[in-house]
This record gives sequence, C-alpha cells and structure tokens, in this order.
Amino acid sequence: MKNLLFFSSNKNKISEVKKLFKGSGIKLYSLDDFEKIKEPKETGVTFVENAKIKSLCGYKLFKIPCFADDSGICINALNDKPGVKSKRFFSKFLSKKNTFNHILNKTKESKNKAAYFKTSICLTLNEGEHIIFEGKINGTISNFPLGKNGFGYDPIFIPNGQNKTYGQMTQTQKNTLSHRSLAINKLLGFVVS
Ligand code: IMP
Repeated sequence: MKNLLFFSSNKNKISEVKKLFKGSGIKLYSLDDFEKIKEPKETGVTFVENAKIKSLCGYKLFKIPCFADDSGICINALNDKPGVKSKRFFSKFLSKKNTFNHILNKTKESKNKAAYFKTSICLTLNEGEHIIFEGKINGTISNFPLGKNGFGYDPIFIPNGQNKTYGQMTQTQKNTLSHRSLAINKLLGFVVS
C-alpha cells in the first residue's frame, strides 16, 4: 500500500499524523490535498462508529484506502462526558474559556480529576473491509489551562506520569505518548508490514 488518505481537515491532527508517518514509505494524503468536500455528519454513538462513517465516506469519494480517527476526552467528574461529543461540547458553552471553566469547576467540586483521551481509527480498504485500531491514555485534569500548543482540550489534560499538559508539550513530545500516536502506531504496524 503506497497511497493512503487520512480523512481529516483538522490541521493539528494532520500535522501530528504526518510526523508519525515520516519514513514509512507511504504517501499520506489528507482532505487538504483535495477540493473541499462536504464532510459527513458524525451520527454514531461510539468513536468507532464515527471513525467508520468518515473513512467509508473518504473511500467512496476518492477510491483509495482511507482511514479516519475519531477522538475525544472522557472526564470522570462528568460521567465520562463529553466523549464522542467533545467537539460539540465547545459549542454548547459558546467558548473554549467557558468550556474549560465548567470542566475545572466540576472536577474541583467532585475532587475527582481523572480523565482519559481515546482515539479510534477505522481503516477502510474497500466498501466492506474495515479495520479498527485504538489508543487510550489515562491522565488528570489540570488546575488551570496551561500551554499554548496543540488544540482542543490539550491545555487541561496531563497524561499520567507527566508533569505537563499536552498543551505544554511540543508536538514531538505529545507524539511519543498520546492516545492518537498509540492508535496510529498500530495502524502503521499493519499497513507497513
Ligand atoms: P474529532 O471528532 O475526532 O475530530 O474530535 C473531536 C474533538 O475532540 C476535537 O474537536 C477536539 O476538541 C477534541 N480532541 C480530539 N483529539 C484531541 C487531542 O489530541 N487533543 C485535544 N483535543 C482533542
């Protein structure tokens, strides 16, 4: 397999994933390499379902092997929410600042800072052939948003065993341990072998 499409237009995700593919011998495309398309609605109730909706859509449109990731943060004090609704959670609170304040208040109130990030990747090789790869990392919610790197919830998540949020790490540091890199490395093991 020489060409592979990563069904994403999220610049941060694309950059993280392209770094992980360096030296693999695979030419990795993303949606940024093509004319803008209408992305499908993420109507699934699990990360796997949403990843499959996206990877199948990419395969049907571009007719090359395609994978998509669906990821999110699950916060113990919020009964594992926002999970698959991580993107929509930001719109619910209108701004990133309000969303972070809500999460920080809830974790302080409950004295429970535990959280995890999860990624499910679906690789679609043809319309009926889908392979799933997953990555999960446990951690805690920080006392304050810290760091300007990354995206989404990066400034409030500290992976277990670390003393920095994802937002305080360089992309290379985040890629050595993140939920997404764990899943991508499993995918790479499959496609490169
Ligand atoms: P998606 O549906 O997989 O694109 O991701 C849903 C949302 O989860 C994103 O809009 C981000 O807010 C959040 N998210 C996913 N991955 C990460 C990550 O690696 N760091 C921080 N936030 C993330």
